[in-house]
Amino acid sequence: MTDVTEDEGPLDHPDTLPAWLAEQRSHLLSLPAHALLLHGPSGLGQYELALSLAQSWLCEKPGREQGEPACGMCPSCQQVHSRGHTDLVVLMPETLMLSLGWPLSEKAQKDIDDKKRKASQEIRIESVREAVQFAELTSGRGRGKVILVYPAEAMNAASANALLKTLEEPQGSLRFVLATEAAHELLPTIRSRCQAFALAEPTPNQALAWLTQYVPGASPTDRETALHASGNRPMDAAKIIASGAHSVWAALPLALQKGRVDAVSGMSGAQLLDAQHKLCHDLWAVKLGAAPRFYAAQDLPKPPPARALAAWAEQLKTLSRRIDHPFKPELLIEDMVQQAKQCINSRV
Ligand SMILES: [Zn+2]
Repeated sequence: MTDVTEDEGPLDHPDTLPAWLAEQRSHLLSLPAHALLLHGPSGLGQYELALSLAQSWLCEKPGREQGEPACGMCPSCQQVHSRGHTDLVVLMPETLMLSLGWPLSEKAQKDIDDKKRKASQEIRIESVREAVQFAELTSGRGRGKVILVYPAEAMNAASANALLKTLEEPQGSLRFVLATEAAHELLPTIRSRCQAFALAEPTPNQALAWLTQYVPGASPTDRETALHASGNRPMDAAKIIASGAHSVWAALPLALQKGRVDAVSGMSGAQLLDAQHKLCHDLWAVKLGAAPRFYAAQDLPKPPPARALAAWAEQLKTLSRRIDHPFKPELLIEDMVQQAKQCINSRV
């Protein structure tokens, strides 16, 4: 397993923002929008771009020009870097905040420490209410205030509704940046109050350059396999390397065809589901005469009939809804391997 440092925050320094995101940041900083919604599939850097925008809006460099990215040096930039900026509130699931090194509110941290409850995987309504209160205060450092929401789809209906009014009529110089990997799951009322921006994909060279810098311990072959497996989405590729999934990737389609549970023993249910979604996608592609996107053509078995693939796709969709809370994870994985085997070997 390769060590990926997620919590040291090198990405929030403006100079280290990946090239494809820096290009997009220049454009976004020139917009007057008070609420931006960055959307696109996972792994393209929504969070990194959102944070860099927030940092740039708050930057205090003297003589800074409109649209210029954050300097990375001033007291404000340093406060963002140390996760303690008085005019920046981040709304994220607590589990994600903890893994990215953001402090929780005193009460939330105490409840978790006292084992009254577990860290939440949703954006809690209590956090949204605190953000709304924050929005009503005057800016501490005088450069305006920012609320960053990521992933925005982690707000449940109550949390989203609690944010709506502030999002619609922000006080003074408050700005929002929402980032999402599932824009279709957001309330239409949230979407309509933001200026939407679809993230662009990196070029393969940009993706590889970033991955080389971010996961220096991985071999070039590992990096290429992971990038291919991610569909050229660099942040997802880094997660694939961290999970070790890249080392079984090439052998996975044939192992699933044989129903070999041992071949996926290092994978979580969510990782296996992702790998199976991609396999299902690629088998469809090959069936239709297109090139596979996530697996190498020579690693794929012969595609089964369309009816079997459609049934498998439906099963995977159903699984997506309960994959985060499996009753018995090991049984779920066995079931998933059996379903895959059945589909791939189907001849009707
Ligand atoms: Zn600065």
